[in-house]
Amino acid sequence: MRAWIVDQPGPIGGRPLRQVERTDPEPSRGQVRVRVLTCGVCRTDLHLAEGDLKPRRQAVTPGHEVVGVVDQVGPGCTRLSVGDRVGVPWLGGTDGSCRYCRRGDENLCTAPTFTGWDVDGGYADWCCVDERFAYALPERLDAVEAAPLLCAGIIGYRALLAAEVPPGGRLGIYGFGGSAHLTAQVAMKQGLRVHVLTRGEANQALAASLGVDSVGSVHDRPPEPLDGAILFAPAGALVPGALQSLDRGGTLAIAGIWLSEIPALDYERDLFQERRLRSVTANTRADGEAFLTLADRLKIKATTHRYPLDHADQALSDLATGAFNGAAVLCT
Ligand SMILES: [Zn+2]
Ligand SMILES: [Zn+2]
Repeated sequence: MRAWIVDQPGPIGGRPLRQVERTDPEPSRGQVRVRVLTCGVCRTDLHLAEGDLKPRRQAVTPGHEVVGVVDQVGPGCTRLSVGDRVGVPWLGGTDGSCRYCRRGDENLCTAPTFTGWDVDGGYADWCCVDERFAYALPERLDAVEAAPLLCAGIIGYRALLAAEVPPGGRLGIYGFGGSAHLTAQVAMKQGLRVHVLTRGEANQALAASLGVDSVGSVHDRPPEPLDGAILFAPAGALVPGALQSLDRGGTLAIAGIWLSEIPALDYERDLFQERRLRSVTANTRADGEAFLTLADRLKIKATTHRYPLDHADQALSDLATGAFNGAAVLCT
């Protein structure tokens, strides 16, 4: 089968991703094999290719927004069958026994397995997944449009919950890529006022076309104080300004897995009046189920750009340069 691997992490311009021919994988105990139809391109894949995230396995295949069909079932599987359409997300496994798993915070598991980082992901014709961590997908969800929901959508949803905006409240969104454009739709459909601060005319145009309440550049102040904000851009330099835009008691949630350095904060200017700064780390399966149900009900629509699987490196490079708005999706 065709598979992309991260060979030598480095700047995307130096082509750190390489396409290779690999033997088709065989599902081990508790796993199913998925024939990949589509795989979304997430910024985490770029961080992995460029070495911001240290590789946890030699020559790993990235990709953790996989939509595919189960075509082989490993021993011991009880939940999924051949022919099921599934989504394979970032959270590929947990130990189920650490104190965080036991208290329901499996996103904080101390021994997690991540798809496309610890185990091979969906930049390939096939991948294998622990059947307990795959999501069943409604048949009517298009394979291209469903892919970005599986990480960009789910993580954005968890970040939205973390920002703790009260009903009818004011949400700020910093950066407007794959995750943000899905989260903004959920927020608006839930009745929040949404202010988008982003660079790039294409991103600003996408935000405006979705009907958000205001669109500005990342260095602007939103037109009103925010009850909560989400930082999607991987830019630590934006943290102080985002904190200053919060109303008293507001929360800034950082959605990314990687962030560049945060400048020194000033207590009075950036944090006092009970403003909060928090991160978002992966998600639980319950978050995923809740979001996929909500996305289906609210008819959340991803703006997608298709690339053939053979052009995965181009998709990542276009993501790095901001060549498209919305989300890139690889099609096999
Ligand atoms: Zn655990
Ligand atoms: Zn992701």
